[in-house]
Amino acid sequence: MPLRQQHLRVVQKPGVTTRPNLSENPELKALSAAEEAICADLHCHSTASDGILSPTALVSRAKSRGVTLLALTDHDTVGGLPEAAAACRRQGVALVPAIEFSSRWGKRPVHIVGLDIDPNSPALREGIALRERLRRERAERIATRLEKRGFEGALKGARALAGDGVIGRPHFARWLVQQGYVEDSGRAFKRYLGAGKVADVKVEWPQLSETVACIRAANGVAVLAHPLKYNLSRTQLRSLLRDFAMAGGEAIELLCGRQNPVQTRELRQLMEAVAAELARPPLHCSLGSDFHQPEQPWRELGCVRLPEGVQPVWALLGR
Ligand code: AMP
Ligand code: MN
Ligand code: MN
Ligand code: MN
Repeated sequence: MPLRQQHLRVVQKPGVTTRPNLSENPELKALSAAEEAICADLHCHSTASDGILSPTALVSRAKSRGVTLLALTDHDTVGGLPEAAAACRRQGVALVPAIEFSSRWGKRPVHIVGLDIDPNSPALREGIALRERLRRERAERIATRLEKRGFEGALKGARALAGDGVIGRPHFARWLVQQGYVEDSGRAFKRYLGAGKVADVKVEWPQLSETVACIRAANGVAVLAHPLKYNLSRTQLRSLLRDFAMAGGEAIELLCGRQNPVQTRELRQLMEAVAAELARPPLHCSLGSDFHQPEQPWRELGCVRLPEGVQPVWALLGR
């Protein structure tokens, strides 16, 4: 039996949520111990997209940080999964095959994580191929704009940094840093690549409902990535959560990297309010670091834990 399923078999127990009250019941005690033992990180990136560690190095780092359940969620690609699976088998880490899809809610870009997807599903392959084309076209347009500003060789440089992985804005940012045009990637976004700047190219990513449908067709669990990072008002966020649940989304990332606990609590309340409004149980909760590279302690692998009383997304895995 694959390691992931063995692991999930331990943690799944119908009708029991996180950390039940300890009684003398030995089964409950065992379950509680298993829950304690889970250290999940269900959002991170490798060189297959914009991370700087190979899948193998990423898995080793996750293992050394105590992660027992890991989802590799590269942007719009499953290219890193075979290598990650091999490394996870060697290291004794349970791997959830996953992806972070670029999507749109109306005109706003949003990210949807697909957990426990079938990487060979035709629907998923189609969704990936479409985004591959959109990314390629965008890279050319970004490069044209940067080159007009005198940054010659941007496309070649960014492509070299992306290597075999899918190309994204962070590769342009790193190239600008490497060439000495800016001090760091943050500034590259602030000056050139971010919203409203010269190389901000709009992309018609597939809509949220289409993206959720694609993940479900691939037998996966659709998770709204980092809801707090879209700069939405409470009303907008509530409306996003509602649309996401109505579209068949099953979980949100309650935690993505280190977060302000007040904001986490507010997000949970919003999620519960939307559930009440829709007369449904609350969405399940996922969590992850959004790790891309070492030396960013606020998004180090395995850096967050779910609070008590929410439904962990891993209850939905392995179905
Ligand atoms: P893309 O998917 O190509 O549009 O690039 C989005 C990625 O760029 C995100 O996943 C982050 O890894 C990175 N990113 C976005 N905004 C910033 C920023 N302000 N500074 C550094 N990296 C950023
Ligand atoms: Mn990224
Ligand atoms: Mn994201
Ligand atoms: Mn991410």
